[in-house]
Amino acid sequence: MIEENAKKILEEIPAQNPYSEKITLVAAVKMQTPEAINRAICGGITDIGDNHVQEFRDKYALIEGNPKRHFIGRLQTNKIKYLLGKTDLYHSVDRYGLAEELSKKSAAAGITSNILIQINAGDEPTKGGFTFAEAQAAYEKIRALPALKVEGLMAMLPDTDDMKTLERLARRMREIYDTFKRGDENIKYLSMGMSGDWKLCVEAGSNMIRLGTAIFGARNYDK
Ligand SMILES: *Cc1c(COP(=O)(O)O)cnc(C)c1O
Repeated sequence: MIEENAKKILEEIPAQNPYSEKITLVAAVKMQTPEAINRAICGGITDIGDNHVQEFRDKYALIEGNPKRHFIGRLQTNKIKYLLGKTDLYHSVDRYGLAEELSKKSAAAGITSNILIQINAGDEPTKGGFTFAEAQAAYEKIRALPALKVEGLMAMLPDTDDMKTLERLARRMREIYDTFKRGDENIKYLSMGMSGDWKLCVEAGSNMIRLGTAIFGARNYDK
């Protein structure tokens, strides 16, 4: 089932977004077993994204096929050490202190870490990230850190059926992304879109989507 879901979604995703960019699918693997994740990889998934450091650690060695590793959840600075050097892209750099610490730890390890800056597009108190108004200053400050490579932006749109609002926010994200991209050749990912809103996000110019439910089915939070 999972393997078929993955194949189906991969076929459903257009080859390119309206900006002629390739779209990367990241499987959001929170609460999934290594077996389930490996099924998805058999179905063609090349990138996986974890939310929880503990789960990332428990499952790390059990994942087959050498997928790219993304970290998409809220990250406490004291847990960076468990991800360092094992994460291809950190999507959720949502505050300057985290960026600073990640740069410091990366420098000490002799590596550069690839990151996205998280934007709180709906300005929601329950979500992390910089507001639209803070985005430019945050980008400039984080970009100046020595051991980080800023590769783009990430957002989780509000959970609403109001398509007008979602579209407006998604387009605003793309505008900010384009502003940064114009002056910075490292900028290449706009990570935006989950199972419920990915089509709208791709239409608005996202080139990286993070899907959980669409691949693995509904998560059982009682377990
Ligand atoms: C869980 C999660 C997703 C995927 O959500 P679905 O609605 O299950 O597709 C995407 N991004 C983040 C940051 C998540 O935590």
